[in-house]
Amino acid sequence: MNSQTLQKYAELLARCGLNVQKGQEVLIIADLDQPEFVTMCVEECYRAGAKKVLVDWIHQPVTKLHYENQTLETLSTLEKWQLEKWAWQVDQLPCKLYIESEDPDGLAGADQDKISKTRQNQFPLIKPYRDAMENKYQWCIAAVPGKAWAKKVFPALPEAEAVEALWKAILSTSRALEGEPLENWAEHNQNLKRRYDYLNALKLKSLHYTSKNGTDFTVGLIDGCKFLGGGEVTLNGNFFNPNIPSEEIFTTPKAGEAEGIVYATKPLSYQGALIENFWVRFEGGRAVEVGAEKNVELLRQMIAMDDGASKLGECALIPFDSPINNTGILFFNTLFDENASCHLALGRGFSNLLEGFENLTMDECSERGINNSMIHVDFMIGSPDLCITGTTRDGREVEIFRDGGWAF
Ligand code: ZN
Repeated sequence: MNSQTLQKYAELLARCGLNVQKGQEVLIIADLDQPEFVTMCVEECYRAGAKKVLVDWIHQPVTKLHYENQTLETLSTLEKWQLEKWAWQVDQLPCKLYIESEDPDGLAGADQDKISKTRQNQFPLIKPYRDAMENKYQWCIAAVPGKAWAKKVFPALPEAEAVEALWKAILSTSRALEGEPLENWAEHNQNLKRRYDYLNALKLKSLHYTSKNGTDFTVGLIDGCKFLGGGEVTLNGNFFNPNIPSEEIFTTPKAGEAEGIVYATKPLSYQGALIENFWVRFEGGRAVEVGAEKNVELLRQMIAMDDGASKLGECALIPFDSPINNTGILFFNTLFDENASCHLALGRGFSNLLEGFENLTMDECSERGINNSMIHVDFMIGSPDLCITGTTRDGREVEIFRDGGWAF
């Protein structure tokens, strides 16, 4: 990929993704796949006025070795300096840029049970820091191609061509291949806003999903919980775009109100392994039964991670005719696949969607129906014939989705 295009993409991540403010610190978390591009991101963050930019490098094969060789006890221990680093984040609220490029199968064969338990054990140690930072800092998840990932997406191409093809797919769906990326995103954010303003004005009480594939499912919505899409605003008023790309209009449904069955329409990459052709049945708001052609055990493990892992944290609406779906590419990466069509997420909800959330404690958000969990896992349920009908608080029925796309 030519360096001018990449520099503009790096600028997009720094200025539109993070919206780095003068004097802010930045933490970039990246794999080793594209160090030149990460360097461009560092440069663009400084250009935007960052005081200090740190890079945390990760490498999946090393992570795998840790899981294979360390005991669960060692894996679960956070050293004093690691906790200090979290304390620094709470104190300085650095912008966080996650640049993903990992192999979707990179941890396949590793002990999934050990990985889950490590996360379960670490979670309570990290939670106080995460809660203290919640909604206070700018962050962005974006992607660059890794070799193994590119080969997984384009198995027929030689490695170098596969990487180039994945660059193209990433940049085009991120609106960063043509024109001026920053202007493209200003327009895109406005279009998303028009949609969620309409949905918010409806004051919906529930959504009912149906599709020929068997999906027949109703979910309750929280009074005063907004739909949102594209950019968000931190508590201190900084606008940022947490996902690049992003096509979704989403809300957090009411934990405990979900009935019926949903069929996934794309495989789910979870903890470095793929769960394929699966369905989830909900009763009283909980996933009570699941089935899958591949890795059903992993799916069962996922919804048993903690009390909130079997309840919903997100409903996202994306037309089946989305730029990502139209590429015809299955990315095996949630950032892209979740933006291809409608999805749900099991686990944590978004407290910042509640009206007046800045004056609510985490417990008060939970009482209003925002789900709490250590996981937040998206899975795709969009199909070309998906219909969604909303019921408003005053009892009217409104068509939201027809034949996989917006009905308004
Ligand atoms: Zn989502």
